[in-house]
Amino acid sequence: MTNYLSLSIKEIHELLVEKKITPLLLVNEAIKRAENNDCNAFEYIDKDVFEIAKSLVEPEKDNLLWGMPFVIKDNISTKNVLTCASSNILDGYVPIFNATIIDKLIKKKAIPIAKTTMDELALGGSGTTGHKGATLNPYNNEHIIGGSSCGSAVAVSANIVPFSLGSDTGDSIRKPASYAGIVGFKPTWGRISRFGLFPFANSLDTLGFFTNNVEDCFILLDATTGYDKKDSTSIVNKIYENKIEIDNCIKTAAVNKTIRIAVIKEIIDSIKNKSIVNEFKNILEELEKIGINVNYVSIEKNILRTIFPTYFIISCAESVSNNANLDGLRFGKYSEAVTYQESVLKAREKGFSKYIKKRFIFGNYALLKENQEKLYLRAKKNRNRIIDIFNNIFMDNDIVFLPASPDIAPKINSIFDKDYFVSDEYLIADNHLIISNFTGSPSITIPAGFFDKMPFGFNLTGRIFEDKKLLNIAKIIEDIIKFKQKAKKI
Ligand code: GLN
Repeated sequence: MTNYLSLSIKEIHELLVEKKITPLLLVNEAIKRAENNDCNAFEYIDKDVFEIAKSLVEPEKDNLLWGMPFVIKDNISTKNVLTCASSNILDGYVPIFNATIIDKLIKKKAIPIAKTTMDELALGGSGTTGHKGATLNPYNNEHIIGGSSCGSAVAVSANIVPFSLGSDTGDSIRKPASYAGIVGFKPTWGRISRFGLFPFANSLDTLGFFTNNVEDCFILLDATTGYDKKDSTSIVNKIYENKIEIDNCIKTAAVNKTIRIAVIKEIIDSIKNKSIVNEFKNILEELEKIGINVNYVSIEKNILRTIFPTYFIISCAESVSNNANLDGLRFGKYSEAVTYQESVLKAREKGFSKYIKKRFIFGNYALLKENQEKLYLRAKKNRNRIIDIFNNIFMDNDIVFLPASPDIAPKINSIFDKDYFVSDEYLIADNHLIISNFTGSPSITIPAGFFDKMPFGFNLTGRIFEDKKLLNIAKIIEDIIKFKQKAKKI
C-alpha cells in the first residue's frame, strides 16, 4: 500500500483535491505510524484530532496545507495540549494559548497530530537528554538522530508526517536533518514570529521546518512568515512578505554564471570522513558545470575554533535568564514548601537533569558581575567579529556551502568521547552551523548521500532576508544530488 505520508506536500494535496484520499485517512495513517514507531519520538499523540480530520470534507484547491498532518516540537505552545519541552520541571503544563506559528498553520487547516521529544528545554545536540530518554535514528537504532529537535526529525525521516516543526538555536534543525536524511530549514531570524516558542537563547532562536524536499520549505515559509504584534522582533518590512516561491530567474542566473558559492577551506580540511569530502567535491564540480561559480575562501583556524565557546557562553547566559521563570510555582507541578526559595530549590532539584543544571550554572557563572567582562561581553564581541567575517564573505558570494556535519550520526555509545570535543573536527567542522545563528541568516540542510548505510547532508547559508534565493539555489543543488535515487540503492 502506498504510504501517502512520504510524498511531497504538493503530491498529497493533489490527491486530496482529487478526493482520492481524505484528511481522515492521512491522520489515521500518521497516528498509526507514530504509535508503532520505535525511536522514542513522541511526547504526546493527540487522538482528538480525528474529529478535526472528519470535519474537513471539501478540499480547498488553493490551500496546499489543507488537511495536512504535521507534528510539533514540544517547546512550542499548543493550547490545551500538554507542552513540557521534554523537561520534568514542566510536567503537566498545559498552555492556554497557541504559538503564532501554530495558529497560522491551523488557520490553513493543517492538522497537528503530536508533540515530539527533544533535548531538555532545547539545550543539547544529541537527542538523548530529554526526560523520556534517548531518541533514536530510524535508519539504525544504534545511532542517535541528533538534537535538539530529535522527535521532529524522526517524524519526517520515518515518513510519519510530511513536515514537522523544530527550533534552531545553534543547529538543532539542520544537524538532525543531516543525520536523518531529510531537509531542515531555519529561515532568517525574525521572519517567523517566536511568540509561543519557549525561549532558550532569544538572540539566536529561530523556528523552522523538517521536510522531505526543498519545495515544501517554500510552502511552509510562505504560510508562516510575517510580522506579529505579539513578537516585537518579527519582521515589519513589507518587501520581505512577497510570495516565497520557485523562481526560474535563479536557474537562469546559474546558467549566466552570476551565482557565487563560497566554500570555507579550513572547514573542509578539518573533516576526516573522506567519503563525505569526496561526495561534496563531486557536487561542487557538478555545480561548476552548470555555470555556478565556486570560490574557496579562508578563515583562520584560530577564529573558527572560537565559534563553539563563544556560542556556549552566549547561549548558556541567555538560557539561564530566559528560564528563570521555571521556579515550580508558575508552571509544572508544585512541591510543598514554606518559602519561595525552598519551592524553587525543590522544583529545580527534581525538575532539571544534571546536564541542564551544568549549563545553567555555567550561564550564571558567565553573568556574574566579576566574570561578565572576561566571559559574556568578550563572547559578544567575538560574535560580532565572526559576523563581520561572514558578512565580508557575503559581499562576494550569495551562499556559503558546506557539509552540514563532518560525519554520519554517531553511535549512541560513542557520543561522550571527551577527546573528540577538543579536536578540530569537532570545534571547526562540527559546529560551523552556529555561524548562521550568530548572523541570523537563513540556512538549510539538504540530504546528500550515504556512508555505511547512514545518511549525511550538505548545508547552504544565505544573506539575511534572502531566504527565497537560498531556497532556489538549494532546489538546484537538490536536483543535482538526487538523494531519493541514492536512498533506493541502500
Ligand atoms: N547543540 C546546541 C546546544 O546544545 C544547539 C541547540 C539548539 O539549536 N537548540 O546548545
